[in-house]
Amino acid sequence: MKSKTCRSLAVVLLLFLPLTSTPSGAANLQFPVKEWNHPFKPFRLIGNIYYVGTSNLACFLIQTKAGLILIDTAMQESAPIVRGNIESLGFKLTDIKIMLASHAHFDHVAGHADMKKATGAKVYASKADAVIMESGGKKGFHPVGDYKPIKVDKLLNDGDVVTLGEVKLKAHLTPGHTEGNTAWTTTVEENGKTYNVVFAPSMSINPGVLMVNNPTWPKVAEAYGKSFQVLKSLPCDVFFGPHAPFFAMEEKVRRMKPGQPNPFIDPEGYQKFIAGYEKAYQEQIKREQAGKGGSN
Ligand SMILES: [Zn+2]
Repeated sequence: MKSKTCRSLAVVLLLFLPLTSTPSGAANLQFPVKEWNHPFKPFRLIGNIYYVGTSNLACFLIQTKAGLILIDTAMQESAPIVRGNIESLGFKLTDIKIMLASHAHFDHVAGHADMKKATGAKVYASKADAVIMESGGKKGFHPVGDYKPIKVDKLLNDGDVVTLGEVKLKAHLTPGHTEGNTAWTTTVEENGKTYNVVFAPSMSINPGVLMVNNPTWPKVAEAYGKSFQVLKSLPCDVFFGPHAPFFAMEEKVRRMKPGQPNPFIDPEGYQKFIAGYEKAYQEQIKREQAGKGGSN
């Protein structure tokens, strides 16, 4: 009897353990993670920048004369899609030299640890997000899901420039969504013209995050406010974001036609993207101040 009970207990434990110990932890279940993970055919966005993410979780590959830079790796579950996308474009995983991130949430960096192993690339991250990445998503003012801890090779400050070959990417710290949320800027050339590119970060407010009297980050609203100012000040012709709908990826890729202007050149879209999130942020503050609760 006793050993049978023990066995049943073991079975129950086994059933539950994977849920809490998978790289994408149970907290993630508040997000539509399956919906985010449909395969998407990789393609060239503009110039030397390629889309290698899933249907929703954007990952960007930048080709340089000295190898490749990868921004974001999506979820652990996305790894086969992202690797397959990179290889189907004819790139070699081992040519990835530097891995960057938009921010240290599981849906953008959970693939980092394995990708680093497969490529030997160096992981660069803002100081504040490196703390979260090295804890496997457990640290930070509002953890949303854990993942395999990532060893960060280089810590970045605001304004630091990452160089590989002829490509330079500048880090602009835009804290709020995470403490080390980062926008990346670069330039790209296409058809003899040079464009300013912004890889925008996430500016949404996650469910349950308070802007007023936040116990784990009292000045979070101030941080968001400053970050909106930073983002609005960046010169931008082409913008991308960590979730494909942020920059209407699917709609724009459908409009890509040879001989036509590249639909990803969308300076107005960038300003609208920022303004939309800034409005949501201001409305949440008003709701909270009126005692009507936090985010939706
Ligand atoms: Zn996020």
